[in-house]
Amino acid sequence: MPATPVRPRQRLVVVGGGPGGYEAALVAAQLGADVTVVDTDGLGGSAVLTDCVPSKTLIATSEVMTQVDGSSELGVRYPSAMASGEHVGVDLGVVNARVKTLAHAQSGDIRTSLAAVGVRLVEGRGRLVPGRHGGPDVEVTSAAGTRVLEADSVLLAVGATPRRLDTALPDGERILDWRQLYDLRELPRRLVVVGSGVTGAEFASAYLALGSEVVLVSSRDRVLPGEDADAAEVLEEAFRRRGMHVLARARAETVRREGDGVVVTLADGQRVTGSHCLMAVGSIPTTAGLGLDEVGVQTSPSGHIAVDRVSRTSVPGVYAAGDCTGLLALASVAAMQGRIAMRHLLGDAVRPLSLKTVSSNIFTSPEIATVGWTQAQVDSGEAHGVSVMLPLATNARAKMQGVTEGFVKLFARTGSGTVIGGVVVGPRASELIFPVTLAVEHRLSVDDVARSFTVYPSLSGSIAEAARRLHPSPLA
Ligand SMILES: Cc1cc2nc3c(=O)[nH]c(=O)nc-3n(C[C@H](O)[C@H](O)[C@H](O)COP(=O)(O)OP(=O)(O)OC[C@H]3O[C@@H](n4cnc5c(N)ncnc54)[C@H](O)[C@@H]3O)c2cc1C
Repeated sequence: MPATPVRPRQRLVVVGGGPGGYEAALVAAQLGADVTVVDTDGLGGSAVLTDCVPSKTLIATSEVMTQVDGSSELGVRYPSAMASGEHVGVDLGVVNARVKTLAHAQSGDIRTSLAAVGVRLVEGRGRLVPGRHGGPDVEVTSAAGTRVLEADSVLLAVGATPRRLDTALPDGERILDWRQLYDLRELPRRLVVVGSGVTGAEFASAYLALGSEVVLVSSRDRVLPGEDADAAEVLEEAFRRRGMHVLARARAETVRREGDGVVVTLADGQRVTGSHCLMAVGSIPTTAGLGLDEVGVQTSPSGHIAVDRVSRTSVPGVYAAGDCTGLLALASVAAMQGRIAMRHLLGDAVRPLSLKTVSSNIFTSPEIATVGWTQAQVDSGEAHGVSVMLPLATNARAKMQGVTEGFVKLFARTGSGTVIGGVVVGPRASELIFPVTLAVEHRLSVDDVARSFTVYPSLSGSIAEAARRLHPSPLA
């Protein structure tokens, strides 16, 4: 019998070692490809080294501070020094050292798991160049020089970097982007946060809890524009109650150093002073100089790489995943796009990306977690649904824990009663949203959710209660 011809292994080069890149590399290696990852800054990408993991590690400390702050009403009494007016404080140098150690350890774990499945790592900056075999190859430049990696296919997962405004350039000391915060050794006395999107809100919330005076400069009517309006309102109220200065409809024109502080000048001429300023005005894709035009990969006017739902770009054999595609800037979405790309490339079963079942969380105090269709889409008629909102203040466990703010909201499709979305605002909303995500993903009805046991007493009891309130299944 003639021997079965051995198919040559697919040579895949992944450019970028963040969640979009490393998750794809793992899947591709498991599916038999010959995989090389090219990365400039360290495995894990900005998700692990500068953005997601560091911010959530910092927030872990701020959560403890929030709990300590609210503990006296639960009967906790502290030693006499604190009773006489001294407050619990943080040593920011220690907190930031922990943040960096944890991030580097996480990066090391990723390196180990990639090496274990045979993925090669090449350190350097990659760019696409016309290849000798039809598709593009990857040219890598590093301190050691330049070399070309031949590729049968390429995955671009180069992420994004903080947006910089010419009139408010970070100096790394007093005017900072979020990647520079972890070099601070002392808590900012008065931190001005420019930008009230997710990143601005999370850091404003964290530094307020850590003990800084915080001014949040928001160019819009309310914080978190684009998120659930009820949730944003709860958060803004919580911010103000805890002493944050929230400046609405205030556009920062310039940020300058003055003495050993900063001055933020608003469009109406008002000057806001602080000891430090955090610029949180969004991100731009890291696609400049990537050779996209040279090989014909299409981009949007914002520089994001255009992809379809299985992560294909306009050039055969070239895929893209993560923040550089501009779909939804989340580590979980980047990783999923990367996995989908590899399954598609290597002929495995694949389900195209659906953003309707992505759950996401804003790690403020309280947290805000969402999944599926939104209130705005229900209100506009884009989604045919009804909603119910239950304040957590009526939940027995919340009362015991001293939780007074937050709610659970569920959306169900008119007629069928299928759960199509939800919002949870409260402590650990990031964990509480999962049952709603399961319901949305598996098209459970409100009755399915209502029939499931929840622990008594528990915050998740409010999710089942909200589902019960939507019975009988809403009719058209
Ligand atoms: C402050 C902050 C907090 C966040 N928190 C969360 C969170 O809690 N949960 C969540 O899901 N998401 C969070 N995100 C979003 C998340 O960090 C991103 O969605 C995620 O990092 C995207 O992954 P990626 O693989 O596309 O890119 P990245 O993680 O940015 O990785 C890209 C990698 O590619 C490298 N690279 C770039 N260009 C090249 C090149 N030419 N050659 C070689 N290498 C290159 C970069 O150095 C980097 O290592 C947060 C973002 C920010 C800013």
